[in-house]
Amino acid sequence: MTYTLEGHTLKHAVEEMLLHLLPTAALTRADAPGEGDCCRSGLTERDGIATARAVVQLDGVQRTGARSAPVAGLAPVARKRVVTELVRMSIYDAVAPTLARPPVWGSLTGVRPAKLARGLLERGMSRGEAAQHLREHFFVSPARTALTMRAAATAMALDRQIGPDDISLYVGIPFCPSRCYYCSFVSSTTAQSAQLIEPYLDALCREIRETAALVREAGKRVQSVYIGGGTPTTLDARQLARLLDALQAGFSFSGLLEYTVEAGRPDTITPEKLRVLRAAGVDRVSINPQSMDDAVLAAIGRGHTAADVLRSYEQARAVGFAAINMDVIAGLNGDTADTFARTVDTLTGLTPENITVHTLAIKRGADLTDKGAAAARYETVRAMLEYAAPALQNAGYGPYYLYRQKFMAGGFENVGWCVPGAECFYNVAMMEELQTILSLGAGGVSKRVVRESGWIERANNPKYPREYIAAADRLAVGKRRILCPTQEGGTL
Ligand code: SF4
Repeated sequence: MTYTLEGHTLKHAVEEMLLHLLPTAALTRADAPGEGDCCRSGLTERDGIATARAVVQLDGVQRTGARSAPVAGLAPVARKRVVTELVRMSIYDAVAPTLARPPVWGSLTGVRPAKLARGLLERGMSRGEAAQHLREHFFVSPARTALTMRAAATAMALDRQIGPDDISLYVGIPFCPSRCYYCSFVSSTTAQSAQLIEPYLDALCREIRETAALVREAGKRVQSVYIGGGTPTTLDARQLARLLDALQAGFSFSGLLEYTVEAGRPDTITPEKLRVLRAAGVDRVSINPQSMDDAVLAAIGRGHTAADVLRSYEQARAVGFAAINMDVIAGLNGDTADTFARTVDTLTGLTPENITVHTLAIKRGADLTDKGAAAARYETVRAMLEYAAPALQNAGYGPYYLYRQKFMAGGFENVGWCVPGAECFYNVAMMEELQTILSLGAGGVSKRVVRESGWIERANNPKYPREYIAAADRLAVGKRRILCPTQEGGTL
């Protein structure tokens, strides 16, 4: 599909909306409208009124969408926001009526729908008005509107526990025993990178020490710690103990609400490692089956079976964690609506405190070029999610946070479910951008959140373990900028 821009340069907005509505489209920007499927996106302004007009031709049928809004007197940033929305919505209006099913998220393409809903509530709308706005302005389905409003309410409740000096920590361990076929994370297998683990821990412990000193200097208090990856339990028991000791020695955990470690892959979990975690104060672990069907597990390259998941879960229960999370993914290769339903039923039968239902994020290209396969996949994922939501609700779980990813199968979402009172604080704080989060380790993206203005400042660590290790003497510089903004440019 080709697209042209007339009177504006909002390429990103046009592409994002077209891919949201037509995920199988291969987009090419052109100077002039071509033959076949195409989109002409134009913007004009007259007498202080901006008008966006989209003319979209699909399978020989042409449709037009147009939106207008006043822009006279607006500052450049506000004007850009208004015209971007006009451009996006004009395309939505032209394309959405041609679709077999309207997107469940309507015209929303953002990652954080609940943050949007919170914004509406914080600007004075009632819950009913905000929900109506999501349905009528963004065309969000009633079920997704209800989900969004519930996640927004949870975030607002947890937000009341966060003081101005409260922060959270993320620590990344980018190693796994093997690579899952669907993985989109930066993670090295132990076969490739076992020799990097010790130098990586050296660099990480240094970053922990230097960051902890900055946290003390800035007078901040750590509210939650989340060790993720990769698979942190790829580390052996001694290495895990070293990491946890470094964290405990550096930071004060007197105000800690929650301490999570992703134990992820059952093929990395041993009773000894679980005891090391618990002894260090870890109170929440994630044991992620993704599927409880052995054929699906083999098809996605996991090195464990469903029986291994059950064994690991029992071991974690025996050690006595306050909360266990289990992740599943809808849309995995080889999974069907029936086998997915059995996975959900098996997990609810185990009664972990949290179950997170992900939708497989598919990469553009091979996965999407076959329109028939993409449509079948959409229907399968829809059936999976339509089974999961009531099954979880009937088992006593409620949704507490959600997020979306680009190129998610079917344009759906990831949802964290929990039994009452077992919301993961870190997940909500991170996804809703409620507080400053310092990220340690390779690929870590620290964010300073300025709540009053909505300003978010980022500091990125090197992405890959080798680069991270090589940068060990500079890792805390970005943290200083985040924690002590008035000392910008200062060195350690
Ligand atoms: S366990 Fe997670 S991070 Fe590791 S390879 Fe699999 S999907 Fe990627």
